[in-house]
Amino acid sequence: MSDKTNKAVNDNEAYSDFHLQYIAGKWQKGQDDSINTNTNPYSGEMLVEIQQATDKQLDEAYEAAKEAQKEWAKKLPAERAGLLYRVIEILDQRQDEIVEWLIKESGSTRIKAMTEFSIARAMTLEAATFPNRVHGEIRPSNIPGKQNFVYREPVGVVAVISPWNFPFHLTQRSVGPALVLGNAVVLKPASDTPITGGLLLAKIYEEAGLPKGLLNVVVGAGSEIGDAIVTHDIPSFVSFTGSTPVGKHIGELAHSGNYIKQLALELGGNNPFVVLKDADLDNAVKAAVFGKFLHQGQICIAINRIIVEDEVYDDFVERFHTHVKTLKFGDPSKEDTVVGPIVNENQLESLKDKIAKAQEEGATMLLGGDIEGQVVPPHIFTDVTADMELFRNEIFGPLVGIVRAKDEAEALKLANDTEYGLSSSVFTTDMEKGLRFARGIRAGMTHINDITVNDESNVPFGGEKNSGIGRFNGEWVLEEMTRTHWISYQHKPRDYPF
Ligand code: NAD
Repeated sequence: MSDKTNKAVNDNEAYSDFHLQYIAGKWQKGQDDSINTNTNPYSGEMLVEIQQATDKQLDEAYEAAKEAQKEWAKKLPAERAGLLYRVIEILDQRQDEIVEWLIKESGSTRIKAMTEFSIARAMTLEAATFPNRVHGEIRPSNIPGKQNFVYREPVGVVAVISPWNFPFHLTQRSVGPALVLGNAVVLKPASDTPITGGLLLAKIYEEAGLPKGLLNVVVGAGSEIGDAIVTHDIPSFVSFTGSTPVGKHIGELAHSGNYIKQLALELGGNNPFVVLKDADLDNAVKAAVFGKFLHQGQICIAINRIIVEDEVYDDFVERFHTHVKTLKFGDPSKEDTVVGPIVNENQLESLKDKIAKAQEEGATMLLGGDIEGQVVPPHIFTDVTADMELFRNEIFGPLVGIVRAKDEAEALKLANDTEYGLSSSVFTTDMEKGLRFARGIRAGMTHINDITVNDESNVPFGGEKNSGIGRFNGEWVLEEMTRTHWISYQHKPRDYPF
């Protein structure tokens, strides 16, 4: 590519200088007085200190993005696709380095880090096909002599705000499609994961030859740049993934500045996992264990409530308990650890509160254990009812409540008894019943005989109700990251009434 002005980094040399921001194609020091201290959530070791960015640096990032996007949008589709194919080569060369960062910065177990790497890679491969899939339309007109064309164009500059739990994938699933479709990006990663959620991707894109200014990573305090990143005049699209309360705030901000922004909001979940009486219980138990405890339950689509039909409730609970007791927890870098540390102290405190509240509210703690450092061992609560906190709110930790439903109808009512509508699961050996049940759930995603945790690059990912608006992956994100432009051509003069 003619714009390949950045240095190619030696494949064997690990990326460094993560104390710097990536703004306007330059690695530069943040100019705010505040410091982001990035620590390993398991060992407490300090990984890097990042001086944070100011409003002025955010402005510099947006101006650079705006300028760079003009030329980038004119590039041939194959040139933009080529960028992502080079990103994939680098991902493959640097897989171990990326996985190690996910373990030490976000407390990912090795299994989770590998899973995250794979879905980010698959999404990048999918996005590389987008430039050739953008297409327009010719529509009929009822006005004599008129021809209607529908074009799809890049949206311009996209603001991306990402969370800490799957930082690498959840950032790349916005950044990759945005860039490949001819947009520029200003990205704010979560404070717990500035590297895996931002700076590491900037290094990868720089090595792949992305022209300067197209991707900017701004690490800053929410109080300094949080609102400005959304209300700034330059971005026309805001892609936010995070909690529902912050998402609602972002939604208000996006419509309160000088210009109304388009929005994608991927928010929290309270995902039901329903076991009907004819389910294959062995499969259901294995799925429930993995879908609940992967990444310590800190996944938006993790199982949040297990709802079991009365006839098989006791059997399910016993088998689930037996399996969960065997899970290894502790150091996430060990191959066999399945439950690692909670990402930060605030999250840890909220889990301690949830454990206390569950007992106060009358749930039975079938399995618990001592919290050591930031590691919370798996907790199982039974006799959970719909009025309890464990049922009502997103848990985001290795705690689970099991609820008894008297029949299929009650199971469906319980599944829908939530403000959220992200993912869901139902276990049954009857396909017709499974489809009927699934279609009765108000959610963006329902998996029959599988976990709630599924993300495939070619099918729509997203939620209903307070879980957000918009869909990722495949042609759904392609549509979101492009704007529709109706252009008509009047071939002969029209007959106007006056
Ligand atoms: P969060 O809402 O606290 O933070 C998300 C991002 O928003 C971070 O980058 C944070 O720094 C930023 N932020 C916070 N306040 C801001 C403000 N005022 N202005 C601009 N940015 C601001 O969420 P989190 O704790 O990082 O992530 C966990 C939450 O994210 C859970 O609720 C989870 O369900 C949700 N999530 C949803 C999806 C999805 O695809 N639906 C995926 C992952 C996580």
